[in-house]
Amino acid sequence: MKRGTLFVISGPSGCGKGTILQEVMRDADVYFSVSATTRQMRPGEVDGVNYRFMTNEAFESLIEQDGFLEYAGYCDHYYGTPRQPVEEHLAAGQNVLLEIEVVGAAKIREKCPEAVFLFIMPPSLSELERRLHKRATEPEDIVQQRVAQAAREISCAKAYDYIVVNGELSEAVAEVEAILRAESCRGINKEELIREVLEK
Ligand code: 5GP
Repeated sequence: MKRGTLFVISGPSGCGKGTILQEVMRDADVYFSVSATTRQMRPGEVDGVNYRFMTNEAFESLIEQDGFLEYAGYCDHYYGTPRQPVEEHLAAGQNVLLEIEVVGAAKIREKCPEAVFLFIMPPSLSELERRLHKRATEPEDIVQQRVAQAAREISCAKAYDYIVVNGELSEAVAEVEAILRAESCRGINKEELIREVLEK
């Protein structure tokens, strides 16, 4: 059976990638990988849905068991992609989407060079800061830490296959959907179609 395609999406905290992905996932046949993290749960988040929230000890024990496809430290916390569900879905032919930061994405690039890498960009750093303030889920020092981190992440964007600017939400959603559709039309993903056409 043909393996599914692995999509890796990065973008600074507050750039709106969660909102874009919510829209895109509504119609797409893609398994969204639920990451593990040691950061605190935000109001409205649900354990096992947004993240698997865990202690440092539990996270480090999973690292030792080789339970992560990748993991990274981000703003003083661990974030990681549990290996097993991703590998199972890909092997079953289903597309998988990882929403991860740039260090983890670079590790995936080494392990899975065939994955598709997409970066969501805010229109500007000042707009990003405004959105983080509006979200009001973090205190001011954390907002500043995340804005500084955003600048470092944006410098890595050119290594990605695609960059989408989230200025107007509906446009950004349409662009991400177009990228997923274009990738599904790649020759390498159409072997079954080619066989069928030749048999008719
Ligand atoms: P937040 O705390 O805002 O939910 O996420 C902070 C950052 O961690 C975001 O850039 C998000 O993409 C990234 N992230 C979430 N899950 C993972 C993961 O499993 N691995 C890595 N490397 N980064 C992650």
